[in-house]
Amino acid sequence: MTTQTPNTMPALFVGHGSPMNAIEENVFSDAWREVAAAMPRPRAILCISAHWETEGTFVTSMVQPKTIHDFYGFPDELYKVQYPAPGSPELAERVRALVSSTAIRLDDGYCWGLDHGAWSVLRRMYPGVDIPVVQLSLDRTQHPRFHYDLATELLPLRHEGVLIVGSGNIVHNLRLLQWDAQQPYPWAAEFDRLATELMLAGEHDRLVAYPTLGEAARLSVPTNEHYLPLLYVLALQQPDEPVSFFAKGLVYGSISMRALRIG
Ligand code: ZN
Repeated sequence: MTTQTPNTMPALFVGHGSPMNAIEENVFSDAWREVAAAMPRPRAILCISAHWETEGTFVTSMVQPKTIHDFYGFPDELYKVQYPAPGSPELAERVRALVSSTAIRLDDGYCWGLDHGAWSVLRRMYPGVDIPVVQLSLDRTQHPRFHYDLATELLPLRHEGVLIVGSGNIVHNLRLLQWDAQQPYPWAAEFDRLATELMLAGEHDRLVAYPTLGEAARLSVPTNEHYLPLLYVLALQQPDEPVSFFAKGLVYGSISMRALRIG
């Protein structure tokens, strides 16, 4: 028996890596473009980015979100990028109404907009800039289980033509990053492989409890803001749905670019 309807939108987790992926042509920008081309066109996008952490959970509700350049020391060209997709106050209200596990607060523009976790990926996926985008923040005071459980409440959106995109990195250790690395650290490769195996086996509880997965997990997820968006996407997987990987690779020794599609 299937719980899906034919028009259920997939859900994506994208490893975004360096902000330069927004403007460099590479295997990742190609993969992001191709995954969008292979899916139904969404009515709107809800993005959970590693780069918006708050106390409490917020959703952007402005009509026109601003493009935020939340990084330092990159070329001017990157600071000139704009992604003026419309917002969707209607979708923001819908998110607030759907979630009962916590009070979702609206950000009508004084706080956020679209950060590079969102726009670096979306400008490749939807270069027409004509699909409304809303961001949901990560409540930094909460445990991984809170995030996973909150995300399960967003499932109806997939039946309403909304594409949910988590943007982070499964392995993300900036302190140990090496720009000229030729090989990933062994622990980075190990955790990327272990997380993949657990995803393929549907072992979400173990992925939520990632601190119990040993030294490789500890080094791969030293802080969890880039990992949590993955949990939001996994939480939206239904029992009969496949997970597939549309990008992978470890860069700079300590960043996994793995990207996956649910459904
Ligand atoms: Zn990032």
